[in-house]
Amino acid sequence: MRFKFYIILYSLSSPIQSVSRVAPAYQKRLLKLGIKNVRDLLYHFPFRYDDFSKIISIVDLKLNETATIQGEVTEIENIKTWKKKMTVTQAFVCDKTGMIKAVWFNQPYLIDQIKEGSRISLSGKIAFDGVLFISNPAYERLPPAADRQTMDNESRTTSDKRFAIRDLRHTGRIVPIYPETSGITSRYLRYIIQIILSSCFIEDWLPQEIKKSKNLPDLNEAIKKIHFPDSFQEISRAKRRLGFDELFSIQLVSVRQKFQWQKQRAPGIEFNQPLIKNFVDGLPFKLTDAQRTAAWEILNDISKTVPMNRLLEGDVGSGKTVVAAIAALQTAFDGKQAAFMAPTEILARQHFETIKHFFSNQDLPIAFLAGSDCQTNLPRHFGKKEIIEKIKKGEIKIIAGTQALIQKKVEFKNLALAIVDEQHRFGVAQRASLQNNISRIKDDSPKEIPHLLSMTATPIPRTLALAIYGDLDISRLNQVPKDRKEIITKIVKPAERQKSYEFIRQQIKQSRQAFVICPRIENESNKETGAQIFSDKRKTAWLETKAAEEEYKKLSKEIFPDLKIGLLHGRLKPAQKQKIMKEFSAGSIDILVSTSVIEIGIDVPNASVMMIEGADRFGLAQLHQFRGRVGRGKHQSYCLLFSQSNSKDSALRLRALLETKTGFDLAEKDLLLRGPGDFIGTRQSGLPDLSMASLTDFELVRQAKNEATAILSKDPELKKYPLLAEKLSKFKEIIHLE
Ligand code: ADP
Ligand code: MG
Repeated sequence: MRFKFYIILYSLSSPIQSVSRVAPAYQKRLLKLGIKNVRDLLYHFPFRYDDFSKIISIVDLKLNETATIQGEVTEIENIKTWKKKMTVTQAFVCDKTGMIKAVWFNQPYLIDQIKEGSRISLSGKIAFDGVLFISNPAYERLPPAADRQTMDNESRTTSDKRFAIRDLRHTGRIVPIYPETSGITSRYLRYIIQIILSSCFIEDWLPQEIKKSKNLPDLNEAIKKIHFPDSFQEISRAKRRLGFDELFSIQLVSVRQKFQWQKQRAPGIEFNQPLIKNFVDGLPFKLTDAQRTAAWEILNDISKTVPMNRLLEGDVGSGKTVVAAIAALQTAFDGKQAAFMAPTEILARQHFETIKHFFSNQDLPIAFLAGSDCQTNLPRHFGKKEIIEKIKKGEIKIIAGTQALIQKKVEFKNLALAIVDEQHRFGVAQRASLQNNISRIKDDSPKEIPHLLSMTATPIPRTLALAIYGDLDISRLNQVPKDRKEIITKIVKPAERQKSYEFIRQQIKQSRQAFVICPRIENESNKETGAQIFSDKRKTAWLETKAAEEEYKKLSKEIFPDLKIGLLHGRLKPAQKQKIMKEFSAGSIDILVSTSVIEIGIDVPNASVMMIEGADRFGLAQLHQFRGRVGRGKHQSYCLLFSQSNSKDSALRLRALLETKTGFDLAEKDLLLRGPGDFIGTRQSGLPDLSMASLTDFELVRQAKNEATAILSKDPELKKYPLLAEKLSKFKEIIHLE
């Protein structure tokens, strides 16, 4: 038995500069991979592995097999092939059973690293060119002949064998392959990670009892094995542990948030059944069962003094607005205020109109408030200052608006219910400030916060919902109103474009209307990088606008000169936008050409055609949102998808849209096609890919949630678990889920 002496030199927080073997040039390159310290490096996980663990004698090699051989280099030389202008490095290697040629292309420097007479380990695929040879193998030098006995295959005992494998890095084992960047190869990462692993001790923050009951390996073990596993089982064990870590942290954060949220107080809003029944009976339609259930859940929640934090998830067109309106009505009737915030002015105004209409025979002061515009349903005109004053005095009961609602100068007298529509549209920071700002109640009871209802039409698959909305209660509208006809979705080939225009013309003859959506003009230099997001956003808006303007010209001059065409994009002034939306709603515009600003919330039941240019450039969820702009009334509606891409991927995605009718099914599909990383946005969330993958492991998520609840119920401040508490505070800094 041999012992190795490990000296602990590094901890997870050691900066990469302190690792003596990492030269300054490499430090810079590592930074490109986001690696600043030892932790980043050790958590730079392989994305796949090459299985080179089969070490065999040369005589036993077979064509096309991936294998490792170990032997002595008898000859090595560089050959220039003039025809192809390539350098071929050719070596002959022999073990006790035979000899084989190894060939590398365009790596002439190898000749300095692999010396004649040295012992070497080679892993790669066996190819044939008159004779068998090993093509472009991974290589690594072996200790000299003195150690030969342990390295030779047949004379090795089992324990020797394991020792030999453990010392190998690039060959003769399961070899990790990492995300790379220029100047940082997997080979380099293996080298440096192996050095660090041998001189670093990682304190395990996960309580022993959890590790035991969940049968999870120690953190040190898991990190070692994710990089240098001896078997594929070890990889999955390590992944399970590391995945559990992130899930458990997420759950700790959200369970704690929930506990804290529940410690606060909210104004109880009395549930007035006759009033609600009266309102519902007066609606021009019958509520779906899902709407009734959701409304009941919400009314029940807000009747309590524990603040509600509920997410209303419902497909486009499932009728979320009326559910929220019911809650707002109840709030106003109880003498309190409700705020209804939407991400765009168009949508906020639409909500104002809808609510005004719903409540036309109630005596309820309602206001609309946006950055550049405002309005009320009162008989007299009021300016912005006056409206803000009325909100402060509590004279206005329901306020629909944009982010303008969370400005400092807007104060509520007794805000009891905050509704956030299309909540995913608000940035993470905005949402946080919204929750805080909107809770600023200038009232006698400053400790009370309003009930919070968020709404989204981007359904998160059930598995993910548990993982990332752990602290929210969820109501789902999983039905759309009965009288809806299914929207007919078609992928249109370029040759059929003319036919589509004819089709739109016919629809308009039957008094219907159409949308035409344009994506931005492709601009290769415009690839998103994290730091640029803001300016990219502007650029995108500009490029989208340009595309929409061109399409507008084409349609109004060449294709439909006799029809009334409208143009809507994000760069129009609010008043112009509003005028166009009004005209479209009233039916005086036949075709509305628009950028993706139309995506959310717009409700024009007479529109029956949604034509989407460059459909491959939009995400599935977004396309589904566009499609949801039609089929809102009683007319048969159509969604026509135009795509310039021939790629298999985009064809697959568009087909998913044809086959899937509901947003929930689509979300599940999207998740499958793109993986949770893309689905939530890895960069946006701050979570590494590995933990992303475990987000869909429903069972693991459930276990993590139970453990988090158990531990926080016993020890809310985690006093007995200082390591855990510390990990959690760091985790909160990097993570940006809901
Ligand atoms: P979303 O959930 O996408 O926000 P909306 O609330 O805008 O949907 O509702 C879409 C349309 O369906 C609106 O015109 C609304 O008045 C109508 N609607 C809502 N509920 C029903 C129902 N139960 N039956 C028929 N129409 C309904
Ligand atoms: Mg909506």
